[in-house]
Amino acid sequence: MQSTMMNMPLNITSVMTFADKVYGDVEVVSVTADNPRHRYTYSDAFKRVRKLANALAKLGLKQSDVIGTLAWNDYRHLELYYAISCSGMVCHTVNPRLFDEQIEYIIDHAEDQWVFTDVAFVGTLERLQNLLPDVKGFVILTDEANMPKTSLRNAVCYETLIADEPETFDWPDLDENSASAICYTSGTTGHPKGVVYSHRSTILHCYASSLPDAFGLSRYDVTMPIVPMFHVNGWGLVYSAPMAGAKLVMPGPKMGDGEALAKLINEEGVTASAGVPTVWLALLQYLEKSGERVDGLERLTVGGSACPLSIFDAFRDKYDVTVQHAWGMTEMSPLGTYNRVADDAGETMSKADFDTARLRQGRPIYGVELRIVDEDGQELPWDGESSGAVQVRGPFITDHYHKREHSAAEDGWFETGDVAFMDKDSQMQITDRTKDVIKSGGEWISSIELENCAVDHPAIAEAAVIGVAHPKWTERPLLLAVVNEGAEISKEEMLHWFDGKVAKWWIPADCVFVSELPHTATGKLSKKDLRDEYQNFAWNDA
Ligand code: ADP
Repeated sequence: MQSTMMNMPLNITSVMTFADKVYGDVEVVSVTADNPRHRYTYSDAFKRVRKLANALAKLGLKQSDVIGTLAWNDYRHLELYYAISCSGMVCHTVNPRLFDEQIEYIIDHAEDQWVFTDVAFVGTLERLQNLLPDVKGFVILTDEANMPKTSLRNAVCYETLIADEPETFDWPDLDENSASAICYTSGTTGHPKGVVYSHRSTILHCYASSLPDAFGLSRYDVTMPIVPMFHVNGWGLVYSAPMAGAKLVMPGPKMGDGEALAKLINEEGVTASAGVPTVWLALLQYLEKSGERVDGLERLTVGGSACPLSIFDAFRDKYDVTVQHAWGMTEMSPLGTYNRVADDAGETMSKADFDTARLRQGRPIYGVELRIVDEDGQELPWDGESSGAVQVRGPFITDHYHKREHSAAEDGWFETGDVAFMDKDSQMQITDRTKDVIKSGGEWISSIELENCAVDHPAIAEAAVIGVAHPKWTERPLLLAVVNEGAEISKEEMLHWFDGKVAKWWIPADCVFVSELPHTATGKLSKKDLRDEYQNFAWNDA
């Protein structure tokens, strides 16, 4: 029997038209290179989106064309997101922190027709434009007053491009399974791989990630996504904020600037924000140095890499802000699990249990089916011990990569590359990346747990633990640590720090203090580089 329900496609256009009508007067505030505080409403935004859609059509762009963006989080980038996707074109957000060769590769691979760029990245594109003959032109995201001199071909100023366009646009009917955006994973080996989102996957991800035990967004929230819009659609928040009617605050190029973030939080009344651990570290360092507070801030979502306990504690104990741990990846749109520990859990649990509970990456959100399998592909129980490869499937998880026909998901399950166990409360604990696993004497050691433990030492700014070949134990863990400015610590003191905190045989067999650690373009530790560098490390006991 067929249902009696209307068959309406799930598309991003509906988020726009809904927010325009219902939450049209809710504010969108941005920092840009040409304006320290730009402010308008969703209604203003969508009026300009319609002007931009007319301008895109005038450039000769048509449905399914791919348009590149190199931009920070701000209102012009928001306008591009909606104008491109709702016109039936595909928004390709390029991570400007990638190496030149990678930027060239992905713009070419995605077949970007035009590229919209912040002034800050004009130089990068000038270097690369001759290698990108298929890009027809470049639009600079600024006004005439701030337009740089540039050799970019067919360079146009964004504000001039849309200035005289009509404020109405007839949006096309779109198939909900058509592509809306592309994001490439940075990948530490080989070429970046493209994940293509659909209108449908984006909307379903918005619904699921906005549930109360995930981002829990409402119209009473002021949300500030500090995750870049060039990385997995800013965790979807630029769609879910207008869907929920939440005010949106975007820090532009000030993402890693603790002082600027504190100012935005206090002056704009931010209640909820989301970002990677390094961003929160920058904010904490500023608050501690300045003595300032962030009293209106209620909760922070942290994800992208494991978050050390010291960040949870500092925000809770000193600033009354709840840090919530989340896990996901480009291939999952990105949210996979979310950990919302009850507000009073700190009072009802022992400190040790509370710490364990907060550090978990969380429960799968609705729409993400998740299983843990052993080396033979057998599903493991959720018993808090059985650790194995994490596999997922669902309507906002990729089946394959762009222009690679074979499915990335064997048997319909996508292999995440993460190793974890599930506890009896259905909370996931990531212990490693498959490729970073350390196997010592036949047993697995969690490099993430050791790294978290190391950075909980007040003298340590950042740490990486890698497995290095050992004649007796196959591999032993080697700790590489960056010491905080002005702090001092000896090797012995560092290694003793692990006593009683982790199993004895997990304790790193040696430690090297380094001035910095290598990172990927998305800010994650690049352990592959470290493994290459330290592959012949001479163990004392070998
Ligand atoms: P990229 O694939 O470009 O590195 P992603 O953001 O897609 O960027 O990375 C996803 C990976 O990041 C996950 O597979 C996982 O290894 C790691 N990750 C994300 N969130 C967490 C978290 N909360 N704890 C531990 N690791 C995480």
